[in-house]
Amino acid sequence: MSTHPDIGAGRIPAEAIEAGFGDLHPALDRNEARVASERCLFCYDAPCIQACPTGIDIPLFIRQIMTENPQGAAKTILDANIFGGMCARVCPTETLCEEACVRMAEGKPVEIGRLQRYATDALFSAGRQLYRQGAATGARVAVVGAGPAGLSCAHKLATLGHAVDVFEAREKGGGLNEHGIAAYKTTGGFAQKEVAYILEVGGITVHHGKRLGRDITLASLAAEYDAVFLGLGLQAVNALGVDEGGLANIEDAVAFIERLRQTDDLSTLPIGRKVVVVGGGMTAIDAAVQAKKLGAEEVTLVYRRGADAMPASRYEQEVALTNGVVIRHFARPYAVQGEGGALASVLFMRTALEGGKLVDTGETFALPADQLFKAIGQLFLPTDVADESAVLEMDGVKIKVDVECRTSLPKVWAGGDCTRGRDLTVVAVEDGKQAALSIDRALAARLAVAAE
Ligand SMILES: Cc1cc2nc3c(=O)[nH]c(=O)nc-3n(C[C@H](O)[C@H](O)[C@H](O)COP(=O)(O)OP(=O)(O)OC[C@H]3O[C@@H](n4cnc5c(N)ncnc54)[C@H](O)[C@@H]3O)c2cc1C
Ligand code: SF4
Repeated sequence: MSTHPDIGAGRIPAEAIEAGFGDLHPALDRNEARVASERCLFCYDAPCIQACPTGIDIPLFIRQIMTENPQGAAKTILDANIFGGMCARVCPTETLCEEACVRMAEGKPVEIGRLQRYATDALFSAGRQLYRQGAATGARVAVVGAGPAGLSCAHKLATLGHAVDVFEAREKGGGLNEHGIAAYKTTGGFAQKEVAYILEVGGITVHHGKRLGRDITLASLAAEYDAVFLGLGLQAVNALGVDEGGLANIEDAVAFIERLRQTDDLSTLPIGRKVVVVGGGMTAIDAAVQAKKLGAEEVTLVYRRGADAMPASRYEQEVALTNGVVIRHFARPYAVQGEGGALASVLFMRTALEGGKLVDTGETFALPADQLFKAIGQLFLPTDVADESAVLEMDGVKIKVDVECRTSLPKVWAGGDCTRGRDLTVVAVEDGKQAALSIDRALAARLAVAAE
């Protein structure tokens, strides 16, 4: 993708890159897991459970680990969250269960995420399948999108006996688990192993390369199936709002991360010497850290507000800093400059808070850059669900749903990033699960009426 002479591959040896992309949190061994589990107080009305979007019975699974039953612990986790293995790797536990843990008062919560990983890893390495398709109900459900929301919904529906067809635009399943999550959070091809485990339940057929809005329509799915679930995620990214002048080496961070996740040999991936990332969320942090690990000499992440306002957690910010990323706050890009058709620098305007409002101060600075990644938020594109005979109501820029993930159309449910709520893997998984339970209730009610 690059033409700039400074953007190179092979700048640091392949082995060094491989080592840099090792597991962010290496798995606990048996002894470490026992010690970590013994710190749990097994609270009555445990706040950690309330803080988990999927409501995993955390004290129960920790007790199972303590009593040397890691596979039983994995069952407790997967019954509530079928993506429990991935969530153990990617959940920002510091803003969820671990933040709520009563031992946080001592400054060190129980390591819930790492214990969850210990249990789910034990199950996957034993190769034990815990789930099978339920007795056939005769109902057929279409799921659009094979990301965490779609596959969580499909899995729960299959265990309840409904036949599921999943329509996925891409050639691989897993959604952002496969194409977006940072490579150092999910190593060893775990995303595909987890997808395979989920599909092994039976009763789910995935149709790859089938895009809603191009190959199929919402109206045709609603006509053919008893219910439809939309787990489409987000398709577009916000514009930077500056004239990019057609310069090479200005790219969306999600596109860079997707390329990185799909590259077998990371040492061949081109990366700039001076990389600038604009944004303050997980995508910005992941792009910056991975650029550094690929061999960029300077990586500067620039965010328009202060550290406290960054969507990325304090912990994520720490990960960036310890990897040598420079974070600059209170500045926004207003122009880019090029040399010979390639990016040479990014010009920033300093910002400040005045009466709670973000304003330009008039002060400017330039950052030399041969690569710029834009990470200022993703967008849902309603064009894929635009259908004259099946019009979905929107809630601002996302699909409008109620507490059971029902949309404005009677046979259509939706969940995950394409609907309201925090854009997190665990939230998408819970949406998919709740939608499946709601679909099951609706189908049972319909069957009961038909039988009268
Ligand atoms: C770079 C990045 C890093 C992230 N890191 C983290 C993290 O560390 N921890 C965390 O909890 N969350 C993280 N997130 C957020 C998390 O990945 C998402 O919240 C989660 O994947 C949402 O799941 P989903 O199923 O709704 O959507 P997706 O994962 O986006 O899956 C949607 C699926 O639908 C398919 N699709 C889209 N349109 C169509 C169509 N028209 N027809 C058919 N198929 C279609 C897509 O190909 C995709 O497979 C990150 C996100 C990004 C972008
Ligand atoms: S809040 Fe902490 S100590 Fe209490 S049950 Fe949950 S993990 Fe254990």
